Amino acid sequence: MIEVLLMDGTQDSQAENALKVAVDELAKCVGLVNLKGTGYNPQMYNLVKSLESKSYDSRRRQVNTEELILNAYDKTKAFPGLVVIATDQDLFSPGINWCFGTSTGCYETDNLGRRVNERDYIIGSKSRMQSFGELVFLFAHEMGHKFGAAPSGRRNTVENLGSHCTNNNCIMQQNVNLNEAIRYAQRLYKKLERGEIDSLFCNQCGQDLRNNNQ
Ligand SMILES: [Zn+2]
Ligand SMILES: [Zn+2]
Repeated sequence: MIEVLLMDGTQDSQAENALKVAVDELAKCVGLVNLKGTGYNPQMYNLVKSLESKSYDSRRRQVNTEELILNAYDKTKAFPGLVVIATDQDLFSPGINWCFGTSTGCYETDNLGRRVNERDYIIGSKSRMQSFGELVFLFAHEMGHKFGAAPSGRRNTVENLGSHCTNNNCIMQQNVNLNEAIRYAQRLYKKLERGEIDSLFCNQCGQDLRNNNQ
């Protein structure tokens, strides 16, 4: 079973609710997903705040995503699943002015140089989000990558900052144009809300997720 832990560094329930929608979408394809860390928890909130301040670049007034993940890894490597960090801080990654979020893996090496304690992280920031649908998109899209949707070489995929799906109404599409990406995310979530689509993942990406996780 897939385990997901939310580390919520925000004070309203938007990030939590967006992650719940994204987890439900994933669960439609892979069966049960066990989501932990929801519900406002001052201990977790304060932990995220301390990780943010350790990773803060005061000249840029932004949090460095690479440092945030390294700092979070120290505290969470005992958790055997995917860790999702929600923040209200503005984010940057080295080489990028700012980003909505990112996902990456982290590991240690043993004395033979082998990777041990490999863990996956997703960070999502509310700071530049204009709508709930964008947060849902960020979480569901990144979880899609983590759990095997739209793999390289599959039919109807394209290499565009990683392998992405080209099917209509699929959350695994990638738009390079920022405004288009925002509009697409909002439109897709509205379609789900209105019941015009059954899932944020197209049939092919849904099948990828089933194949990889059952
Ligand atoms: Zn992507
Ligand atoms: Zn797809």
